[in-house]
Amino acid sequence: MMAATGKKVWMDGRLVDFSDALVHVLSHTLHYGVGVFEGIRAYSTPRGGVIFRLREHVDRLITSAKFYHLPIPYSAEEIERAILETQAANDFYPSYIRPLVYRGEPALGVKNLKGKVSLAIAAIPAKKYLGEGSELGIRAKISPFRKPSSESMPAFAKASGNYLNGYLAGVDAMKDGYDEAILLDGRGRVAEGTGENIFLVRGNTLYTPGLESDILLGITRDSVLRIATDLGLSAVEKSLSVNELLSADEAFFSGTYAEIAPIKEVGHYTIGTQVPGPVTRRIMSTFFQAIRGEAREYAAWLTPVPTPARVPIPRARA
Ligand code: PMP
Repeated sequence: MMAATGKKVWMDGRLVDFSDALVHVLSHTLHYGVGVFEGIRAYSTPRGGVIFRLREHVDRLITSAKFYHLPIPYSAEEIERAILETQAANDFYPSYIRPLVYRGEPALGVKNLKGKVSLAIAAIPAKKYLGEGSELGIRAKISPFRKPSSESMPAFAKASGNYLNGYLAGVDAMKDGYDEAILLDGRGRVAEGTGENIFLVRGNTLYTPGLESDILLGITRDSVLRIATDLGLSAVEKSLSVNELLSADEAFFSGTYAEIAPIKEVGHYTIGTQVPGPVTRRIMSTFFQAIRGEAREYAAWLTPVPTPARVPIPRARA
């Protein structure tokens, strides 16, 4: 798992030392999971440090916060600047950046709308969510824990409390010796991993579940769909059965922290004959070119990280 050590953390407009980035033990978010967050990657390219799809991550953070009645006291532009500033202050690559919106003041009682809404942004040196070497293939199991229905816990919002479900599924898979869990939705259709979306490949067509399977609409998923289309492959969003997964030619996970990880086994079943399969390899190769700044057609996905002196620090509005 991620060793959480960075240099500086941005907290409500100030960069503080990593060890000073603390909240109160009675904070509402700690007790009830009412927080929203993002996971973002920064990469080193020949033209300097970049953040991958910054605007999309900030937009998703704002959408998640709005749904959970957490008015963020910064505009999208200010949040972007704060993320860039955090990355500039930490200055390691690849980096995993974690903005969190939370209520950090002491407050007990579920129905709380009082207290300051805070934004903290931390960065840690990025590893791979599914382990070093995961680009060569990982082993997953179908989880006995299913995704909660979006009528109970909307999956489109990246909310802290949603991860209780992923925690149960992920720990169960880990204790059984697997790298990752595949969660099904309430109707038994394939949904996603604990921190990734899932794709199947049959022939030259990619398939991935849509919102009706109570998934998070991943930004890497969106990048894969775009890359697949650009490569002349078909990409279909549809509800998928477990049998379609087990009989697929290829399967892979996509996510910011996992990047792209081919799935070589699901429980006792081997997926396809080659890992990574040919379609997965094509997608991975273009994706890695995009994040390394080597693919001009995806240059708009990369926001340059300025040097610290050039990033003004946004202040919270009163
Ligand atoms: N599903 C879940 C449950 C996740 O936590 C993540 C990671 N954010 C993803 C999918 C993949 O989303 P993204 O590609 O935006 O990282």
